Amino acid sequence: MPHEESRELTARLEKAATYLLKLDRYRKPDDLARRFGLPVPVVRFWWRNVEDQKKTPIPDRELTPKQAKMIRKASQVLDGWEKVKRYRPECGAKLSNGRKCKHSVVIRQPEGWSMGALAERCRMHGGMARRIIRRKEEIEDE
Ligand SMILES: [Zn+2]
Repeated sequence: MPHEESRELTARLEKAATYLLKLDRYRKPDDLARRFGLPVPVVRFWWRNVEDQKKTPIPDRELTPKQAKMIRKASQVLDGWEKVKRYRPECGAKLSNGRKCKHSVVIRQPEGWSMGALAERCRMHGGMARRIIRRKEEIEDE
């Protein structure tokens, strides 16, 4: 997935997550992360970046129609993440036989999400590129 698209998608997820956390629809970033299958460190990071981290819980009956709609929309955006995970775009790297690689692009490690949650390529074709420098370390870990 092209960088821009991936970053846009990630920005949408971040916006939705912080909105729901601000309104205290989820008590902690971890709760929200688990509910929507997002990496916990990423949601914690998003929340840390919210300026005041102040929550304004609003009881359901006091929500304005606009807020109720925004909450529904934000939840839908985050629900969509499951689908994105399952139906990731194909890598598309050119293979020596002239075909294109059909493997799914990589979901980046939490520390790479600032570049967008989805990489441009699959694992075999450099989807983890940001971590190349650390490859030695990675091998040792495995
Ligand atoms: Zn590939």
